[in-house]
Amino acid sequence: MLDDVTESTMDDLLATLANVVGDGGMLTGTDVSSRASGIWRSQGIEAEAILRPRTTEEVSRILAICDEAGQPLVAQGGLTGLVEGHITQAGEIVLSLERMNDIEEVNPVERTMTVQAGVVLEAVHNAADEHGLMYPLDIGGRGSCTLGGNIATNAGGNRVIRYGMTRDMVLGVEAVLADGTVVSSMNHMIKNNAGYDLKQLFIGTEGSLGIVTRAVLRLREKPRSQETMLLAVSDFDRVTALLKAMDAGLGGTLSAFEVLWNNFYRLVTTPPATQTPPLPQDYPFYVLIEAMGGDPQADHARIEQVFSEAHESGLIEDAVIATSEAQRRELWAMRDDVEQVHQYKPVFIFDVSLRVSDMDAYVAQVNRGLEATFGEYTNFVFGHIGDGNIHFAVAAGEDDGAQDGVKQAVYQPLKSIGGSVSAEHGVGLDKKKYLNLSRNDEEIALMRTLKRALDPNGILNPGKIFDAAG
Ligand SMILES: Cc1cc2nc3c(=O)[nH]c(=O)nc-3n(C[C@H](O)[C@H](O)[C@H](O)COP(=O)(O)OP(=O)(O)OC[C@H]3O[C@@H](n4cnc5c(N)ncnc54)[C@H](O)[C@@H]3O)c2cc1C
Repeated sequence: MLDDVTESTMDDLLATLANVVGDGGMLTGTDVSSRASGIWRSQGIEAEAILRPRTTEEVSRILAICDEAGQPLVAQGGLTGLVEGHITQAGEIVLSLERMNDIEEVNPVERTMTVQAGVVLEAVHNAADEHGLMYPLDIGGRGSCTLGGNIATNAGGNRVIRYGMTRDMVLGVEAVLADGTVVSSMNHMIKNNAGYDLKQLFIGTEGSLGIVTRAVLRLREKPRSQETMLLAVSDFDRVTALLKAMDAGLGGTLSAFEVLWNNFYRLVTTPPATQTPPLPQDYPFYVLIEAMGGDPQADHARIEQVFSEAHESGLIEDAVIATSEAQRRELWAMRDDVEQVHQYKPVFIFDVSLRVSDMDAYVAQVNRGLEATFGEYTNFVFGHIGDGNIHFAVAAGEDDGAQDGVKQAVYQPLKSIGGSVSAEHGVGLDKKKYLNLSRNDEEIALMRTLKRALDPNGILNPGKIFDAAG
């Protein structure tokens, strides 16, 4: 059968694949083009078909057939990725995991959850919560993004400072290789050093080395206390001093340290944004802090003590401490209201990382670069500063063509300070051209070696991250 497929036309190939996925498992024509190609994209999906398998076995058969035919294939989850990793073009086929969304098991004793890759992050949160447990990954796209996409991008989010990135929350992975081989590495243990840790091949590799079909997640005990506060700070040196003071004083319970530069704070607390400003709008920096602990009374007393010590030592100008769950949610809703940047069109969003001690000078350098190139510009700055991760949303006039100049201003200064062009979101197509600013020739050569070994026909997400031949 496969020989026939090799010689077949696209129509024959699609007919073969339709047989694998059965009724409702394949979309073509306007059912493909009428689907938005991303959460913030108005363009429809451009591809020959969307395949929607239900089982690992079906994924395996699809890949075996496509590999034999040299047919490019791109995995898609919730389409919330921000670097065009999931984008397709004519001639390619989408492999959507949307129908593989079962939560197979929650084990409260082992504190693990076994899921299919298409499950939405919020469903994982809810299932863990029902058992008094927590899956710590939390990002703004929680209602749409899938565990497979989180794994493929090694998603980070708001609690990395305490719980690490997705890499630290996944114990096992089942993945299908380009030739259809199913590699079941569904480890349930925290410690397993019997040879290579194969799941790492599929975490953060953006669907370029295999399709993630199932995973074992590490859950944590649900915190019994959650303290959230917003602090106003007068300069960046005090922001970094506050980070140290909070981390040391809170004894390991600090779970978020988010910084909003003045212009981002104003944006998300001024209409049409729906949040009213919890603090006056004229401080240079705002820090959203969260601590999660196991003893509400003691945790509250401790955070109050750390707060007053920081206040006495002049680190804080002003503060609001959430006294109810509703207030806590409001503070987070303000931080998460990133969509407000789309009041500006076009706006270019960035996600980079660097040493915290380089950050203030780096932001100033980026702004100087933007001014030199564009004169007029707006650069909203915010980020997970506790993790050395900064976001920019840059508007520099009405010309879409400004993007290249903005990218130069943001990425180029990172090379000399050893920063990364991608803190969280991956490389996709969007950052491919800049990969060499953050990775040396030998690193990129090894990436190519891995790609060639696992996907010799180059069918998995071709052209993303780097060109296979280099
Ligand atoms: C409002 C908002 C806030 C966000 N905040 C954060 C944040 O704080 N931190 C952060 O890290 N990210 C953040 N993101 C981006 C983040 O990368 C994605 O939300 C998420 O991890 C991608 O999941 P997805 O299911 O949408 O994947 P998609 O967007 O569909 O795909 C992303 C990549 O993963 C690959 N992929 C998808 N599924 C699979 C699979 N099963 N097997 C192999 N490859 C696969 C795709 O080919 C593509 O390369 C945010 C996005 C939004 C919209």
